[in-house]
Order: sequence, then structure tokens, then C-alpha cells
Amino acid sequence: MTVGILGGGQLGRMLALAGYPLGERSVLLDPSDSACAGHVAPLIIADWADERALCDLADRSDVVTFEFENVPGKSLSYLQNHARVAPPARALEVAQDRLHEKQLFERLGIQTGPFAPASSRDELLEAVQKIGLPAVIKTRRFGYDGKGQALVRNDRDVQNAWDKLGSLPLIVEAFVPFAFELSAIVARNWQGDVARYPLIENIHRAGILRESRPASPKITEELTEQAARATDRLLKELDYVGVLTIEFFVTEQGLLANECAPRVHNSGHYSIEGALTSQFENHMRAVLGAPLGDTSCHVRSAMLNCIGQMPDRDELAAIPGVCIHDYAKSPKPGRKVGHVTVLAENIEELQDRLSRARAIVENATDT
Ligand code: AMP
Repeated sequence: MTVGILGGGQLGRMLALAGYPLGERSVLLDPSDSACAGHVAPLIIADWADERALCDLADRSDVVTFEFENVPGKSLSYLQNHARVAPPARALEVAQDRLHEKQLFERLGIQTGPFAPASSRDELLEAVQKIGLPAVIKTRRFGYDGKGQALVRNDRDVQNAWDKLGSLPLIVEAFVPFAFELSAIVARNWQGDVARYPLIENIHRAGILRESRPASPKITEELTEQAARATDRLLKELDYVGVLTIEFFVTEQGLLANECAPRVHNSGHYSIEGALTSQFENHMRAVLGAPLGDTSCHVRSAMLNCIGQMPDRDELAAIPGVCIHDYAKSPKPGRKVGHVTVLAENIEELQDRLSRARAIVENATDT
């Protein structure tokens, strides 16, 4: 069968690659002729709103999915009239607007930090007054990798944030003094079967994910149960099909949901080598209506993102258990151009290999 994928970035590339061993093909649509998934599968180069191209994608696909979160909701609604689409358009709509997302979390009893919307300067001042400082001001839409947000500690920061971000509708969130961050990745197929990956500890810097550690020693049974309750509620509410991720802050009061992603997630890249079935393969299986694969991990692993430019490949290759993924993207400050997964038999060995790999990756990182 053929899976149509909206978006031709590295997530689309890894989805397409995961399909081949199963005998499944992909076709992608992306506005950029240099989209890196185009190296591994046929790429339709067209604007998101190009209805002829969307029809072409639908005609060539048994099911259509997406790897890019800012696909216009209209394009997905249009596609729904021409093809089977998963995850559902509503999941994308919710995830595209931080306010709707947090309101849905609240309605489902998934705990979040305090938040308030703001569409004018007066509303912003009122929202900051209500939430208190420090706070994080974010654009409701189109933010990623720390873009479209500002940490504010005083009135002057609030004014600067308004000058920078105020042309778009905003959300003010209380700054959460978290102990650490984690993500929960689950897959659900059309039949309603659910597969859960172990929780992943995530380390961000400047709003960009740097490192992910599945099944980290910090992850307790209690956290795993809380996260499972949250993902179950969201899967059910959205009648979800595909891979779904929720990112959480771990605090003294337990888990606070930060955001959800209706797609495969950067923190799940370790699963290509670190789990029996990768998140990419399970997304393909889920949207195709196939049985889901085993998500358990047979080895210790951790993932490092390569930001800006790829690190020295020979140096990395000298470390045992290192798997290099180069997305073949042109270097650019702040851009995710690849990742490295480090595998080991035990925690001590993982720490040793990880710190060696981290030094090489950091050396090439520009932010
Ligand atoms: P986001 O785009 O919402 O995923 O934010 C990127 C990163 O910024 C998060 O993973 C956190 O490290 C940090 N961050 C975002 N919102 C908050 C918040 N309300 N409190 C503390 N840190 C935050």
C-alpha cells in the first residue's frame, strides 16, 4: 500500500524509510524542492493549498498522514473528502493552537500550568497580572523550537515581548519551575489497539530539544501511570489513529502537560535502534490499520540532536554503539540536521559513550 505524507522533512523521511521493510511505499507533498524526504520517496512539490496537488496525493495514496504540524487545517479538511486521513484533522487543529490545546487538556482533567489568552496590549497586561511573573509569553500558533516565545521576568520584558510577538494572538503561561521534562509517545491503530513507549526524559536548551533518554532512572511508575491516564484521555477524545506525543513538565505536584504533537516526535528517534518497533514503523502500521509492533527496548539508549551542522562522522564512529543519522539537509544555525543514537548494555556504559558522543556533537553545535 502507499501512505501519502504531508510534509517532506526528516520526519517524513524516517516514516518513508520505516515503510520499506514492511513492503509499504510513501509519496510526499512539500512546498520545498529541497525537502530531504524527497531523497528516499517520490515528492510532489506544491503549495499546501494547491487542490490539484492534494488530489494527486490522495489518488496515489491508500491513506494520507502528516509529519508537519503547520499544515493548514483547510488542506487537511479538503483531503478528508478525497482520502482516508489519519491522525484526524481535529487533532491537528487542537495542536496548532496552544490555547485550544491547553483548554482541551483542562477539560479532560489533564493538569497544566496556569495560562491566559491575550490578543491586545491591555489583555496582555491583565493576563500577566493574573498569572504573575516570571511567565512565558508565546504566540498561540506557529511556534516551534523555542521560536515565538519569550520568558518575561519584569514589566520591561513584557513590553519587549509585546513589541516582538504582539502582532499575533498570544498565550501567557506561568513559568513552571520543573524538575525535568518528559514525553509520552503512544500509537493507536484504526482497530483501537494502543501501544505505549517508555517515557522519555528530555533536555532542552534555548527552547530546542538537545537530548532524549528513554526509560531514564528518573522515571517512576507513578509518572508512567499519570502519563498513561493523560494519553488515554486524549486518544479517546480525539478518536485518534497514529502516533501521538504529549510533552510534560515534572513538578512537585506531578505532571503538568505542556503540549501535544499529533505525529511522530523528535524525542522518539531513539526508537529506530533502541526499541523493537520504531515510532515511525508503528505510525505507518497504525495509519494502515495493521497490528502494532512491540515497543519494548532491548538495549539502553539515548539520543542527541545535531543542531546547525553535522558533527565529525569519523570521530563519532570511533565510539562503540553510536548510530549516526544525517538528514542530508544544508547546514543552518538552529536547524535540526541529524541525530545520533547511543546504545549500550547498561547505564554505566551508556553514560560513558553518551558523554563522549555529546562532546563531539556539541563541538559542531552553533546554539
Ligand atoms: P514549547 O515550544 O512550548 O515546547 O517550549 C519549548 C521549551 O521551552 C520547553 O520544552 C521548556 O523547556 C521551555 N518552556 C516552555 N514553556 C515553559 C513554561 N511555561 N515554563 C517553563 N519552561 C517552559
